[in-house]
Amino acid sequence: MNHFDIYKAQSKAWSILSRSYKNKRVASTYIFHGREGLGQWPLALSFAALLNCESPKETDDDRHPFYPCGQCRNCRNIFSLNFEGLNIIVPIGPHKKHSEAIDLTNEFLEIKRAEPLARQSSAKPLSIPIDMAREVKKSLSRLSTEGITRVVLFYRMEKMLASSADALLKLIEEPPSDTVIILTAERPEALLPTVQSRAQLIRMERVPVEVMVDYLQNNYDLDAKKAQLLARISEGLPGFALDMTAGFEDEESSSRTVGFLLFKSLLIDSGPKVVSLLTEMVNDRDHSEAEELLRLWQSLIRDSAYFAVTDDSDGLVNVDFVPELKKLSRFFNNAKVAETMTADIKNTLADFRVNVHIQAALVALVLQLKKRLKSGPA
Ligand SMILES: [Zn+2]
Repeated sequence: MNHFDIYKAQSKAWSILSRSYKNKRVASTYIFHGREGLGQWPLALSFAALLNCESPKETDDDRHPFYPCGQCRNCRNIFSLNFEGLNIIVPIGPHKKHSEAIDLTNEFLEIKRAEPLARQSSAKPLSIPIDMAREVKKSLSRLSTEGITRVVLFYRMEKMLASSADALLKLIEEPPSDTVIILTAERPEALLPTVQSRAQLIRMERVPVEVMVDYLQNNYDLDAKKAQLLARISEGLPGFALDMTAGFEDEESSSRTVGFLLFKSLLIDSGPKVVSLLTEMVNDRDHSEAEELLRLWQSLIRDSAYFAVTDDSDGLVNVDFVPELKKLSRFFNNAKVAETMTADIKNTLADFRVNVHIQAALVALVLQLKKRLKSGPA
């Protein structure tokens, strides 16, 4: 497996961490904030590796003066999550016994070992259990092995109940020596003000398209076209792109996934960008492919419009895209928008029957639909 290039993906964040290491001004607590799946996990591991690397690589680059070597025993142990000085606490589902909590944690670590960018998905509510937090606190009260900088990662700290966070406050207020605490959170405001004020905030940025294309092609066996499409539609969020790769497993679901991504692009991107994606992805000589796409769009519009008025997902056609459709429903708060868009698509489908130029018709349609979208409040 190729490594995700976290140094390029989160160049600013790495610059802060790498320079703090160089200047020997490493903070005792960091908050990596931003949407899950932007690379918080690999960033935390790379930093843990740098802090413990036996032969860190020094460069002439002022922005990134240091990297972990990735080869020494400590680096390897950290990246494989088998390092004595690395403690990771993640949100888990409901459980009764402590042993179950450990099993659930290990299950998630296994997923992260295989794919460090994977997002947590669960129908059940997730939370960071107090007993796991306490255990870490206890283990940190012991002296660390000489030469080791302990790193504690609280992943998705907003999932920690307030009562458990209270128990950790002391740890953050008076961190043990040779210990760095990393908290990840979507929004730092979701954390206790005392925690926020004692931590250095590091904002995760959208990941550049080329970094994602590289990773998707090398690790997910996607052709260049699909990798490009996914990377460009995912709004810089690798976690989203990875969730969607499952949709490329067979040919049928693959054309649905492409159709959905183009629909999403229609809603969120500028007209010229949608047009360029469409002309890349849709075969200009095959009516049936374009027709299939437009029929899918019609049903996606219907489902999104449906979500604009209800939270209930019964009666939806495109169940495979439910979480995404929910988010996109905001474009259809005005019922008129869905209505006029559906009518426009119907007209284009009728045009296909009289043999118009496929791409020209699609381009005209997209521009028309963008106008309709502008007329409704987003
Ligand atoms: Zn190393």
